[in-house]
This record gives sequence, C-alpha cells and structure tokens, in this order.
Amino acid sequence: MDEGEPLSEVVKALRHDAGRLFHGESRYLLIRPETLVALQKSLVERLGDGAAEHLDGRRFVVAIRHSPFADAHGPSPAPVCHVTRGVLERVAEAVFDGPARVTETACAATGAPLCRFEACA
Ligand SMILES: [Zn+2]
Repeated sequence: MDEGEPLSEVVKALRHDAGRLFHGESRYLLIRPETLVALQKSLVERLGDGAAEHLDGRRFVVAIRHSPFADAHGPSPAPVCHVTRGVLERVAEAVFDGPARVTETACAATGAPLCRFEACA
C-alpha cells in the first residue's frame, strides 16, 4: 500500500477470497480496537498469574500459562508467542534501562506445559 494512496483507492483494491481479505498479494487482518484491548487485558492477567523470576540484575524469567497465542496457533515445532516476546522485550529494556533480548525458551504450542520467556540485558 502506497502511503500517498487515497483511502478510496485502497478500499477499491481490497478483495475477499475464501474468507480472507487481500490488498494486492498481501493478506490483511482487520482487528477492532476492542479486540486489541481484550488481548492486552488477557496478557496482563496471565502475566499476573505467571511466575516472574528475577535471576540477577541482568536476567529475568516470565512464565505464562494458557498463552492466547499458543492456544490460537495450535501445535507447532517452534515457539509462536512472538507478540508476547516483543512486549516483554520492551519491558526488559525499561527494567534494564538499555538494550535487552527476550527469548521464548518453552512454548505451549510445542507441547511444553507453559510458555517461558527469558530476558537478558
Ligand atoms: Zn508460547
């Protein structure tokens, strides 16, 4: 989608195919703001239940049971909770006051009992 493209042209270029929405060859997902807020609340609730373990001044671990991303994704050979990992990475950057990296070291989608994220400064 071109930044200068008028919205009416964008709407004209949308096509619906087999229950999916496309603009050109790109697939789009329309999400209502209420859905994003519900997702955020869901994550906060799960983080509240999750075991946050402070390993030392440069690492912490967060475990989340019943990840909405793993639940929605279904079985996978690799971790799938990329949105949660990204959110936790921003949190880690704030906690460590600098660059940080978060790795999902276990994921319910791969058959693990919970999703586990390890943050490192
Ligand atoms: Zn996961």
